[in-house]
Amino acid sequence: MLDRAQRKIEYLRLSLTDRCNLRCQYCMPAAGVEKLRHEDILTFDEILRVVRALAELGVRKVRLTGGEPLVRRGLVGLVRDIKAVPGIEQVVLTTNGVQLGSMAADLAAAGLNGINLSLDTLDAATFHRLTRVGELADVLAGIEAVQAAGLRLKINCVPLRGINEADIPRLVALARQDDVQVRFIELMPIGCARTAGLTGIPMAEVRSRIEQHFGLALQLVGRPAGSLNGPAVCYRLPGFTGQVGFIDAIEHKFCTECNRVRLTAEGFLKLCLNAKDGLDLRTLLREGISDDNLRLALRQSIWHKPLEHHFTDAHDLNRDRRAMYQVGG
Ligand code: SAM
Ligand code: SF4
Repeated sequence: MLDRAQRKIEYLRLSLTDRCNLRCQYCMPAAGVEKLRHEDILTFDEILRVVRALAELGVRKVRLTGGEPLVRRGLVGLVRDIKAVPGIEQVVLTTNGVQLGSMAADLAAAGLNGINLSLDTLDAATFHRLTRVGELADVLAGIEAVQAAGLRLKINCVPLRGINEADIPRLVALARQDDVQVRFIELMPIGCARTAGLTGIPMAEVRSRIEQHFGLALQLVGRPAGSLNGPAVCYRLPGFTGQVGFIDAIEHKFCTECNRVRLTAEGFLKLCLNAKDGLDLRTLLREGISDDNLRLALRQSIWHKPLEHHFTDAHDLNRDRRAMYQVGG
């Protein structure tokens, strides 16, 4: 399915819940989080209807996200059901990893294709401070379980000035022996990140720090044709098994290559991370829309996907007020 800018939409990011077992400073407030009511969240049957309709329109990859997707009950069965939808080639998950120790094996058995694990630091005290409630040991146990289950692993880190700078080379070092991709993501001015008093580190600086630390030049890795991978630009360090990736949404807009739409936990089809535009699918589903009309509504909405984001425009009237935990990244 193409949008008006001839972009091929093949990738759905599906938020299963707005709840989370952590309170990362740049994502969620410490207290007073307004949660969706249970009845306002799409049921698994409703989710599967949307996934089937989108798959018929050409979506091939689904990423489950949150809030924290592992806290949604029945997740393993949902992975199995989405994987069985004709046309869906990949089901992957973005998680903070806290519960992976007990779930990774079941998720792998259900057909999950890979895990993106968000981990900003390997220092237990910094981890606790950044997440406000988390224990690093739980995530490390999760990583072991992912590797034991043979799942493809990517580790995502948001570099923050004065907080996890020393973790940049420590995280990259994880890719020395193991086939993991360590990716650095620019802090985006969304939700709490606007007020948390945190400063992101530009990706150009992260890249040069890595090269300086290891005394090696990062070598660009080409992207295979037809790849469903996201906007990370990937590199290899000589002698390393894994890769290092960089996502700088603000410095380098990748909107012309955007292949994704998002579905929030309450069933709003979001066409751009930063914009309000989209479609209230929950209402349509609960009013009894037919499969044909659902596909038509999706096609018409996606046609109008915004051409680009306006993160740096503080006065953008079309900016979505949803926080990251309500969208899923
Ligand atoms: N709870 C899961 C997790 O943390 O992986 C999934 C949802 S979380 C919102 C998805 C990703 O968004 C995480 O990697 C997190 O670091 C990232 N994130 C949250 N707020 C962000 C911000 N303001 N800028 C950049 N990334 C952000
Ligand atoms: Fe939760 Fe993920 Fe947001 Fe952290 S980044 S508070 S783990 S949703």
